[in-house]
Amino acid sequence: MFLFTSTKRFYITLICLIFAAVIPIQAATGRFSYPPAETAFMIIVYAAAGLAFVLPEILYSMTPTEKLLKRYDVNKDARPQIERQARARNGELTPRKIDVKSRCATFTGKKGGSYRTTLKSCTCPDFKERKAPCKHIYYLMDQIERSSEN
Ligand SMILES: [Zn+2]
Repeated sequence: MFLFTSTKRFYITLICLIFAAVIPIQAATGRFSYPPAETAFMIIVYAAAGLAFVLPEILYSMTPTEKLLKRYDVNKDARPQIERQARARNGELTPRKIDVKSRCATFTGKKGGSYRTTLKSCTCPDFKERKAPCKHIYYLMDQIERSSEN
């Protein structure tokens, strides 16, 4: 999805912004009978909610990959990290969707669930516990690197 790393976020933002746009139109045509102050308040709430959802996505899309990876206070040459990188490379993973442009991915988990991965985070148990790059993040990194070489 263009700009968005999550389809859910995209739709929530869209709905919020549509509401923010439709309320003044409805008010202008007289179909919306709340007092002006309440109408303005509702527009602001929807617009602010839309922005709250889109802002992290814009920031993510604008931050270069190297800067995103600096957040991890982890030695990538430490043994457990090397093992994760190896697992990412030897075909153990089942990527469902890789979006190199938006730098996000979805993987099928072991128990049939799915993990959402960006360079900032992953919903897998390994990342949740350690807050350090998991094999999914390494896989995504590799794909991004590979696509930039072409
Ligand atoms: Zn993960």
